Amino acid sequence: MKIFSCQKCQQTLLFENTLCEQCGSQLGFIPDLITLSALEPTETGFRALADASGREWRYCDNHKHNVCNWLLEGAEGDLCMACEMNRHIPNLGRIEQHQAWQQLEFAKHQLVYSLLQLNLPIISKQEDPEDGLSFDFISEENVVPEDAQATTGHALGQVTINAAEAKASDREEMRENMQESYRTLIGHFRHEVGHYYWDQLVATDEVTLASYRALFGDERANYGESLEKHYETPLENWQDSFVSVYASSHPWEDWAETWAHYLHIVDTLETASQFGFSLSPLEPQQSQLAVMVNINPYRHSNFEDMLAQYLPLTFAVNMLNRSMGQPDLYPFVLVPAVREKLSFIHELLAQEW
Ligand SMILES: [Zn+2]
Ligand SMILES: [Zn+2]
Ligand SMILES: [Zn+2]
Repeated sequence: MKIFSCQKCQQTLLFENTLCEQCGSQLGFIPDLITLSALEPTETGFRALADASGREWRYCDNHKHNVCNWLLEGAEGDLCMACEMNRHIPNLGRIEQHQAWQQLEFAKHQLVYSLLQLNLPIISKQEDPEDGLSFDFISEENVVPEDAQATTGHALGQVTINAAEAKASDREEMRENMQESYRTLIGHFRHEVGHYYWDQLVATDEVTLASYRALFGDERANYGESLEKHYETPLENWQDSFVSVYASSHPWEDWAETWAHYLHIVDTLETASQFGFSLSPLEPQQSQLAVMVNINPYRHSNFEDMLAQYLPLTFAVNMLNRSMGQPDLYPFVLVPAVREKLSFIHELLAQEW
């Protein structure tokens, strides 16, 4: 994620901020400029200080629910491009459901930020019912709508996220039950949207599909049976070829897990790079950890360069977390087979730049 700053007073801002604490300016995110801007009220809307074109802006309708700070131009509709993709949202009559929605929206907007940076097509199902993308946030406490799934997953561009995942204590319990080393809301979004982009980018092109199968396996293997087998007897040596144990359940899941992991890497690298992170260990024998993180991971063609900056960084941050008694930030090991799959995703996405 970029570090944003107020165009009026230079205060450092966060992606979700709606108000500059220093100068009091209202703030809004401009999707086509991929930036957060201080706003000046006009008679009918706002002028954005980051937008030299002088367009008139207004807030997405979900701004009034404190879940979105994105802007729309003139007469574009009521919801921003990120919120327009929602189909079902939690029941806002209940405070904890509203809090869950807020967490879900923060994660979803962070996801859409990366999709914009990657220059991927972002098309809502409203625009294109067949090939578009849409989100359902389902709460088991409410009645699940007839046209929706009850559990987290993806089907033909329809992503479902269980709103219970927004509550840290519930999510942690699920993580322990599933014996996972990592479980986050943003991870779910990245994983499920990975299935959608597999349909869009891999399934539609024979050459890409053949290369995918050579690396990830043949996705025509029976999905239900593969998952059942995975839950009965998880693969023992999954670490040799997969980024997570779940990735070993079926080639589609391997793709989605690896895709999500790719997005973890680029987001983290962009943040570190924005801060100009560099490591120069005191002890000469640790010099292999010396690195200066200075890459734009959304436009850097050599994936191995990216890993050369990323891996020492994760090692250092893991040790910082341990100093504070926190679990590792990055509880993963990237074996050569996984690097190869990540690199395949990198090459495929570079075609979209
Ligand atoms: Zn300010
Ligand atoms: Zn919005
Ligand atoms: Zn999946």
